[in-house]
Amino acid sequence: MKDVELQTLVQQEQYRQQYGINLIASENYASKEIMDITGSVLCNKYVEGYPSIRYYSGCAVYDQIELLAIDRFKKIFKAEHVNVQPHSGSQANAAVYLAVLKPGNTILSMDLAAGGHLSHGHKVNWTHQFYNIVSYGVHPVSLLLDYDEIERLALLHKPKLIIVGASAYSRTIDFERCAAIAAQVGALLMADVAHIAGLIAADLHPSPFPHADIVTMTTHKTFRGPRGGVIMSKKQLGKSLDKMLMPGMQGGALMNHVAGKATAALEAMQPSFVTYQKQVISNAQVMAQMFMSLGYKVLTGGTDNHLFLIDVLPTGMNGRQVEQVLESVDIFINRNAIPFDTQPPLHPSGIRIGTPAITTFGADEKDVCIIVSLIDRAIKNYDRQEILQDIKKEVHHFMIHLHQK
Ligand code: PLP
Repeated sequence: MKDVELQTLVQQEQYRQQYGINLIASENYASKEIMDITGSVLCNKYVEGYPSIRYYSGCAVYDQIELLAIDRFKKIFKAEHVNVQPHSGSQANAAVYLAVLKPGNTILSMDLAAGGHLSHGHKVNWTHQFYNIVSYGVHPVSLLLDYDEIERLALLHKPKLIIVGASAYSRTIDFERCAAIAAQVGALLMADVAHIAGLIAADLHPSPFPHADIVTMTTHKTFRGPRGGVIMSKKQLGKSLDKMLMPGMQGGALMNHVAGKATAALEAMQPSFVTYQKQVISNAQVMAQMFMSLGYKVLTGGTDNHLFLIDVLPTGMNGRQVEQVLESVDIFINRNAIPFDTQPPLHPSGIRIGTPAITTFGADEKDVCIIVSLIDRAIKNYDRQEILQDIKKEVHHFMIHLHQK
């Protein structure tokens, strides 16, 4: 049966993706091959358990698919053990906590307000009820991770788990230093590389292995795969992590997504993936530089990765208002708290801009300069509807040009 109502909505979304400028740092566009696989016959099968120990019959092909995915992730990330079944990044993280911690244990992790993630122990997240969460932030002046402070907190609170990794941090993370801190207090180190997994795969960010004991990631951000999570670890932790994810937390794996993860991994092993990730970083750096030359306050004065943050309060608007103005011209960014924000979370001082999605559509340095000037004009003319209408048309023309390149 044709679902006309839903098809219309899908078409609207397709139009938005094709003709809008997507600068949401956590999003990307998976290849047609990956989308075909996630929408294939693989979505019909129940596959519980792990290769060769399944709780359903008819899983032989799925064993091969899962082993292929595991093997590719092992090669890319130099991981001793890989679990490709988590439905999401948050679920991957939850499985880790439940496997290696007991209720009441202490986690030392980055505060959401400083760039961390909800699932690292924010007070509205389930983790806050089960564990004693101690947060670290960034240095008040440099806004960089302050490893001396992390070390001080670790020595003071003796966490069982230290989490490093962020949703809104634009600089290189020193996994080696974090591992040295964890070793001093006998903590396990978990690196959540959800955002930077693609850069790590392309060798453009230092690898969390061999330093971290556990590495979690999402497959749909810079890695450019289907939506989902992956857990990687040192060999000795593999069994307990697997057991906690399934049967501990999940039932049947989404094997269409597991297969999509395998294809994404194959794509990530190609030289073209390195070229793409280099362009992602270069585009982010050029954009950050141009924003600064236009007088915007880019946090930390630039970026080493695929994203950067701007304090937009000096424009007279907060992050939410800028997000809305830009959405009205079909440019999609997201509002974001900035470290030491004085504004409430729903109306924070900042915005976060990322280049993975627009780079997938072929944008280069020249293109992203055009995007910056469109954003700047929209912000400066936030209350002039006619000008905003013109900018929206220019956004659509820009995207047509990009698709024709
Ligand atoms: N970890 C980090 C660092 C993230 O940025 C995110 C998502 O933005 C996640 C975990 C959670 O991923 P998911 O939305 O798949 O649960």
